[in-house]
Amino acid sequence: MTQKITNALTFDVEDYFQVAALAEAVQYDDWPSMEYRVEANTDRILCLLDEAQTKATFFTLGWVAERSSALVKRIVAQGHEIASHGYSHQLIYNQTPDVFREETRKSKEILEDITGQAVTGYRAASYSITHQSRWALDILCEEGFTWDSSIFPVHHDRYGMPGTPRWPHRLKTDNGHELAEFPLSTLKLPGYTLPIAGGGYFRLFPYWFSQWGLGSINRKGQPFVFYLHPWEVDPGQPRLDVKWFSRFRHYNNLDVCEARLQKLLSQFQFTTMTQVLRNRGVLDN
Ligand SMILES: [Zn+2]
Repeated sequence: MTQKITNALTFDVEDYFQVAALAEAVQYDDWPSMEYRVEANTDRILCLLDEAQTKATFFTLGWVAERSSALVKRIVAQGHEIASHGYSHQLIYNQTPDVFREETRKSKEILEDITGQAVTGYRAASYSITHQSRWALDILCEEGFTWDSSIFPVHHDRYGMPGTPRWPHRLKTDNGHELAEFPLSTLKLPGYTLPIAGGGYFRLFPYWFSQWGLGSINRKGQPFVFYLHPWEVDPGQPRLDVKWFSRFRHYNNLDVCEARLQKLLSQFQFTTMTQVLRNRGVLDN
């Protein structure tokens, strides 16, 4: 029954030390000196996808693409989609519009130079397009993006636009541009909207709960978007010294994540985000 709907499978290609939850332990200037693990971890994901004969969208950080152009080429060679995850993984609502525009343009150019293809999809670092940084949507349109998956319609300490639409839709920006938006998937419970799209939630909840929650979206006739990061299938990553809550968020259940992903790939149908948006008629062919 859940096989009928095709969902969007997405990976945010960044390394463990670039995550907002660990920012208290690693500064941007420290990044070049950290052990670099994103290539090996992304290759493991590419293997899993090859075995499952599944295509996905890889939102790739410009900083990573600059160092790993061969990896970006391998992703494309396997038939997956490349989209932008910005350049420096700084939270959008902490940036000025000028800095955001500059980084967005830079990361798009880096990815397009490597792939030789137009890059038209975007996901903000830590879903940091919020009510406060809605201006970023206009800049995305002005810089040539046609679709976005940055909005999490939940309450959260770092992100979220509670009350916004939960399904793929055409979004009108403040300056009148239009963008196809695929909000991160949520589950509507009495009085509460629960994030269920992947990442830390996928590692926190028991597998059966994610399966049930994601399946319930498909039973409504809607696709869900699922996301993971390459570092989430890497239990051997160096442990950074951060406060207990950040530590829990980042390191919880890393050792079971890869097996869960394999199970998910066998139980649901997935493809790239562009394909799902086209299937739903919110993005032109
Ligand atoms: Zn990210």
